[in-house]
Amino acid sequence: MNVAILSDIHGNLEALEVVLDDVARHAVRRIIFLGDVVGYGADPKACIDLIRKHASIMILGNHDYAVINGDEAKKLNPDALFSILWSIDHIKNEYESFIKLLPYIYADNHICATHASPLNPQIWDYILTREEAVSAFSVKTFRVLFIGHSHCPCIFVEKEQKRMFTGELSVVEELNPDNIVTDIAKRYIINPGSVGQPRDGDPRASYGIYDDIDGIYNLRRVEYDIDKASKKIKEAGLPDNLADRLYLGK
Ligand code: ZN
Repeated sequence: MNVAILSDIHGNLEALEVVLDDVARHAVRRIIFLGDVVGYGADPKACIDLIRKHASIMILGNHDYAVINGDEAKKLNPDALFSILWSIDHIKNEYESFIKLLPYIYADNHICATHASPLNPQIWDYILTREEAVSAFSVKTFRVLFIGHSHCPCIFVEKEQKRMFTGELSVVEELNPDNIVTDIAKRYIINPGSVGQPRDGDPRASYGIYDDIDGIYNLRRVEYDIDKASKKIKEAGLPDNLADRLYLGK
């Protein structure tokens, strides 16, 4: 049964709408959203409403948390902080209680979902390198872990566990992030990239579809109206850079 994995929408309604259209064409049974619905983009409120309507599972992201926690907001870079303060003006009162209820981690069966590393989800550590993936695999409670946060699609597989004096150490390989058939005897960390602000050089919206029976994972890239999304960012008075980077996928 197909599960759609969406992450890092970041207030980009145009991207979210085309992704949900694409999801609707793939016999998807449920949507798991990995966090960061707000920040950067001009439509935080509409994106929250739309993803709430469609996703059966929603995880807390660091930008979502920054809406309700000033200390978290202070950790953001200047453009991100500016857009979070702008988003707070537009959504806070209405959505504060909803954001407070979002979990850091979701686990069922063999699937687990977090925004960042599962080692300590409150710290929002990235998983970008093989070494970071080795640390994340020390969490033993998942077979397939879906993560967001970096906005770059990637897949790590734990091929085996070596017994060392200090304990077990995972032997990890990075795979092409597009398509894989998962092996039931191995463990995986999969990042489906970002719906609303891809950063891997491909500006198309990014998400994944995982068949939790056959174990097949496919990365999907979908074109959307970047002109419209970036124009809205400029018209909202948000930093120009946030509009321009959408064209670059950076
Ligand atoms: Zn993000």
